[in-house]
Amino acid sequence: MIDLTPYITLLKQGEVVAFPTETVYGLGADARNPSAIKKIYRTKGRPADNPLIVHVSSLEQVKEFANEIPELAKKLMDTFWPGPLSVVLPKKPEVLDLITAGLDTVALRMPNHEIALSIIKQTGALVAPSANSSGKPSPTSAGHVSEDFGIDFPVVDGGKTTIGLESTVVDCSGSTPSILRPGSVSKAQLESATGVKFKESFNSKDSHAPKSPGQKYTHYKPAANVIWTGDAEYLDESTLFLLSGRAPDMPNVISYNNDLDQFASELYDRFRQADHKGYTQIAVELNENLSSHPMYAALLNRISKAVG
Ligand code: AMP
Ligand code: MG
Repeated sequence: MIDLTPYITLLKQGEVVAFPTETVYGLGADARNPSAIKKIYRTKGRPADNPLIVHVSSLEQVKEFANEIPELAKKLMDTFWPGPLSVVLPKKPEVLDLITAGLDTVALRMPNHEIALSIIKQTGALVAPSANSSGKPSPTSAGHVSEDFGIDFPVVDGGKTTIGLESTVVDCSGSTPSILRPGSVSKAQLESATGVKFKESFNSKDSHAPKSPGQKYTHYKPAANVIWTGDAEYLDESTLFLLSGRAPDMPNVISYNNDLDQFASELYDRFRQADHKGYTQIAVELNENLSSHPMYAALLNRISKAVG
């Protein structure tokens, strides 16, 4: 086990530290320290109107930030925490605007990762966006964090993350619950756990009044141009192919044989690798026949953003 003491000391001193979670690496800062939180925005080059998720290790910590915990939110926390689900709740008045981007709600998550939980237990709640430069794909290894922030940047190396895509974000602050960002906890899983219908508010068309300012930003983009397969040719050696189904055995073609969990866990690393290897284009295929797979909506969302 890694000695976490130096990292915990840094966090308590108001510094930022990157650490692993089961989704992607997070860039942590003390959620009660405004100058520490400002360092997150500076380090990432993150727009100030994009709210941050508060990471907790206990329900007591939730109560420091949430004004109330509706029955539905309790049920979700019982079922999916610790895990890749962020829950948006009405905030306590004292929660910093730096966290919520001025919204009257706060997003909370308890990560399912031994290192993350151990850190948060010792520091108290941490705000933690993904530990990448704004606009880059989220980091799924400590090496990705060093690529963006330099080799001297403090990062707790917990190996590769297992899920590889950011958490599902659900809004439980209003009368109808809605999914603000799809992730590995699917709509079907949310609905079967609660017996309640969830709206999908992550396609810009149906979100006229975005609940979260962050939804307007494009994310997850490598330098290479990302397109859907279509006219792309396997013989074009400057194009990397990422395919959900089976594919010919060629050096520039990677296929996942319908294993969308594996696809999701590797997506951002493949994006970054493509740039290192000099590919100028990435052609992606996500077979619609797999649309009932729990990871399908999250993959479609991240790939669409990279294409769009
Ligand atoms: P990141 O930290 O990069 O994974 O992004 C955090 C995302 O969580 C934001 O871009 C929002 O989509 C969402 N989020 C955080 N706080 C709130 C909130 N109070 N209301 C709605 N969405 C939120
Ligand atoms: Mg991010």
